[in-house]
Amino acid sequence: MAPPVRVAALGGLGEIGMNCLAVECDGRIAVVDCGLLFPDEPVGADVVVPDLAWLRERAPRVGAVFLTHGHEDHIGALPLLLRDLKVPVYAPRFALELVRRRLGEAGIEADLREVRPGDVRRAGEDSPLSAEFLAVTHSIPDACGLALGTPQGTLLHSGDFKIDEAPVDGRAMDLDRIEALGRGGVRLLLSDSTNADKAGRSLSESAVGAGLEAAFEGARGRVFVACFASNVHRLQQISGAARGFGRRVALLGRSMEENVRLSLALGYLSFPPWQLCSLADVRAAPPAESCVLVSGTQGEPRSALARLARGEHPELAVGPGDRVVFSARLIPGNERALHRVMNDLARAGAELFHDREPPLHASGHAQEEEQRRLIRLARPAAFLPIHGEYRQLARHAAHAAAEGVAARLLAVDGDAVELDDGGARVLRGAVPVGRVYADRDSLGQGIAEVVVRDRRLLAEAGLVLCVLAVDRGTGAVVRGPELFAVGVAGFEGAVPGVRAEALAALAAMTGPARGDPAEVEEALRAAVRRWFRREGLRRPSVLPVVLEL
Ligand SMILES: [Zn+2]
Repeated sequence: MAPPVRVAALGGLGEIGMNCLAVECDGRIAVVDCGLLFPDEPVGADVVVPDLAWLRERAPRVGAVFLTHGHEDHIGALPLLLRDLKVPVYAPRFALELVRRRLGEAGIEADLREVRPGDVRRAGEDSPLSAEFLAVTHSIPDACGLALGTPQGTLLHSGDFKIDEAPVDGRAMDLDRIEALGRGGVRLLLSDSTNADKAGRSLSESAVGAGLEAAFEGARGRVFVACFASNVHRLQQISGAARGFGRRVALLGRSMEENVRLSLALGYLSFPPWQLCSLADVRAAPPAESCVLVSGTQGEPRSALARLARGEHPELAVGPGDRVVFSARLIPGNERALHRVMNDLARAGAELFHDREPPLHASGHAQEEEQRRLIRLARPAAFLPIHGEYRQLARHAAHAAAEGVAARLLAVDGDAVELDDGGARVLRGAVPVGRVYADRDSLGQGIAEVVVRDRRLLAEAGLVLCVLAVDRGTGAVVRGPELFAVGVAGFEGAVPGVRAEALAALAAMTGPARGDPAEVEEALRAAVRRWFRREGLRRPSVLPVVLEL
């Protein structure tokens, strides 16, 4: 009898982002991806990462981290994991270099090991778990799927993929190897569900070239192109289109600078030497000779594009005659933020190019036809849709049913899939999951949930500071309460009423409570909040301070 294998979902199932799976067998664990999530509503923190306590508690049993590719939703939480866990990280080259840079910023040392498609790596000495890396096509260089070797057979993990027949870098998805694995028997297929509700197939990345050329056609001013900085193949195509119109290329935004410089250094991206130029060159050159690659496709208020749109960028301005081309998908939830940026750009006189024919963007994720083709090639005994919200997982499972896969499993974060000699099943709530909030600049330290809640409350209703000076001996009020407020609407009018309420609360206090600063503070807090509630106003956060003189 072979030992059972469990695949636990620590993130990424039932949501887009925070992808993290733990494969467990015989007390040994391999981690697949460890990503973050960009919240689509203000939560008082830049990013959300999975709570990795479950892994941390099992640190001695974790033998390796396998990374499929370098997108933030697959690698972004690694600094948090590797802070406590000293295990080898196996990743394809581009992902590895992104991780290396991120860990360097966080001051974390790690054992990073590069792999290529076809490489097989064991998850630690004597581990029953291994991973073979398989080339897949996606919207970032070097993306891989994994054939996980386990005592219960092969678990095929698609990674994020599309089946691009004409990839820009010529590196095709290794469908032959997947077919061979299918012939040998795939026990479980775990596959990317992002576009499960889109019929047909995704557009090849190379098909975007025509749209990009059209975006330069007839442009007399500067052309700004917004796209994801990690979409190196897109950057290659944009620079190619720009070259066709005699335009040099400059970079705007930190992530764009970093990714382009890294990609150039590693040879993923190539410009003729004359083409890359500085922002100073752009300012000096005639507008029709420049193209600017800019980050901030989702309307992020602090991004280079948003600052450009608001006229707040210190180095460049956008104006009449200029074009701004959007060569990226708008992630649902970001509409308002992006539309604000677009309005600002239009107000500045720029011509906007987005949602045009021929298309300016191709998704990096497989649609129904490609998903079903992968299922047919892999011929899995069981199917687990991953990387999607619940509706997308359910739809993907329906595609698997249509392809005749008998066992379709639907699991969400916190569930585990168990494979043993008797079959495959979902164990509900098998692992504790949670969210940890973090700021972009200090990813190494999470932010407590209570801090995030405070930030949200402060944003919604403001803060009242209530300062009272009392006599140390008698507890009698010496001065105050003095009231100060931040972000509280109509506060001046409220001061007399709030002060009266606070004084009444103090007068009502008797006995030893009167001499206990903590009790007095609590009474002040309650009184201030009570007044706002009674007036039917938003209740602000209250910070009472009692000074004993
Ligand atoms: Zn991805």
